[in-house]
Amino acid sequence: METMIETTSPKETFEAGRQLGLLAQSGEIYILNGELGAGKTVFTQGVAAGLGIREHVNSPTFTIVQVYDSGRLPFYHFDVYRIGDIEEMDEIGYEDYFFGNGVCIVEWAELIAELIPRSARKITIEKNPEKGFDYRKITVE
Ligand code: ADP
Ligand code: MG
Repeated sequence: METMIETTSPKETFEAGRQLGLLAQSGEIYILNGELGAGKTVFTQGVAAGLGIREHVNSPTFTIVQVYDSGRLPFYHFDVYRIGDIEEMDEIGYEDYFFGNGVCIVEWAELIAELIPRSARKITIEKNPEKGFDYRKITVE
């Protein structure tokens, strides 16, 4: 099933993420596609809020994954934008996260495509300059 949502502010994208976070279930993996500045992190912050996480969520800069344990389920936020080699995923023990009991979100998942389980759900955030600077189309597959 595919769902499409259009937003015209970061707040609305956050809210779309929050709705997903409210429904997210143990063991789910979501991959987020979209260019730099599309809103992947804003969406992820919403997911975290929906899971009941109160800590501030930002893209992990010096680590590949950031772990949040204060919500309804463990939340693992991956941003693999700066990954140099796919072996870095083994080094952090990614399988414990991907096949654990929490919820995973992966920004820039295309860089580690071969590691992404087929069960992962794909979310794409796209801009459309013709529809304004703050317009985003969010597709959940
Ligand atoms: P990414 O993680 O995809 O690189 P970010 O979430 O860090 O992107 O940044 C998205 C930027 O776009 C933020 O500065 C945000 O304020 C801005 N923005 C403008 N309109 C929207 C929108 N509709 N949804 C999400 N972000 C938006
Ligand atoms: Mg980001």
